[in-house]
Amino acid sequence: MTPILSLSAAELERWLEEHGAQAYRRRQVWDWLARGADTFASMRDVPTALRAALEGEFAVTSLKPIATSVVDRGLTSKTLYELEGGHSVEAVVMRYTDRTTLCISSQAGCPIGCPFCATGKFPFGRNLKAHEIVEQAVDAQRILSPEGRRLSHVVFMGMGEPMANYLAVVDSVRRLADPELLGISPRRIVVSTSGLIPRIAQLGEEKVPVTLAISLHAARDELRDVLVPINRKYPVRDLVDAAQEYARKTGRRVSYEWVLLAGVNDTQQDAKELGALLKRRLAHVNLIPFNPVDDTPYSAPDRASIRVFRDMVEAEGLNVTVRDTRGREADAACGQLHERVMRATTPVA
Ligand code: SAH
Ligand code: SF4
Repeated sequence: MTPILSLSAAELERWLEEHGAQAYRRRQVWDWLARGADTFASMRDVPTALRAALEGEFAVTSLKPIATSVVDRGLTSKTLYELEGGHSVEAVVMRYTDRTTLCISSQAGCPIGCPFCATGKFPFGRNLKAHEIVEQAVDAQRILSPEGRRLSHVVFMGMGEPMANYLAVVDSVRRLADPELLGISPRRIVVSTSGLIPRIAQLGEEKVPVTLAISLHAARDELRDVLVPINRKYPVRDLVDAAQEYARKTGRRVSYEWVLLAGVNDTQQDAKELGALLKRRLAHVNLIPFNPVDDTPYSAPDRASIRVFRDMVEAEGLNVTVRDTRGREADAACGQLHERVMRATTPVA
């Protein structure tokens, strides 16, 4: 069966016309998908014969949910999906009073291999196709519709490095933002990257002004070479220049992520280096207490040390927040940031 979202709008309209239906039916079908329909049979305003034809040709989604976990008294839920071909990825829904955020995966595994990250520890699987990324959001809406909720934000902070699957990610962003599908404004979509400079430059040209998050974690090359190995190819100063160029082009403030690893990147020296790197830049720093991962040499600083580091960064004149612990238990691979980034990142234009 062909997953229906693997067809573009034009392709689906052509299929409909070939099957004696009018092109506008495509919008009806998308509308049902965006509202959480899980079968073609339930699409009531689509003629019965057409529903049957769709059912015979297409699958509503290619994703097979194989496990779910619900924590935070029902506010956070994680779903593990099996992809066609057998790899699996996860997506996490986080419910807040004023928003509903989905943390989404762009690759099965990750080729970057940061030593503190659960995803980086497994061998790389494969890139997701654009429709597999969009289907995570459509499936989240399927979960949320009965609760009377609408997905409002999407963060690419699940498994994978989005900029290493560039074309599919940009295509999926356009589809997530399409008012005829989910209609999530690009400013409510965060793309988090370990720092593939050429792709950041390219993203700035796309006319999809998503919010960019840079996984910084260290302000000096010597340490960042270890924590984020892609730094050996794209050093930190060049990365910040590329990110700020993105901010200039899009008018969107960049968010810098900093996973706090006790004794590794939480010292006064680190705060000073961070200050020197970002001073007078249109930037926000988001401190993330490390979520412990087995078989890594790292541990999370205690609360007091986190506060001390935050104060030191603030004293450098930077805009800084500490992420809440939402989703901690649900986690492992999903990048554990999300909400802070969204709250902290406001349009400047
Ligand atoms: N590959 C992209 C996006 C996915 S990871 C990136 O690295 O930006 C999303 C975020 O989760 C990154 O900032 C990453 O550094 C962070 N992260 C990964 N493992 C973590 C852990 N164990 N504890 C806290 N944050 C973690
Ligand atoms: Fe990949 Fe991001 Fe994990 Fe690094 S932190 S291994 S880039 S998913």
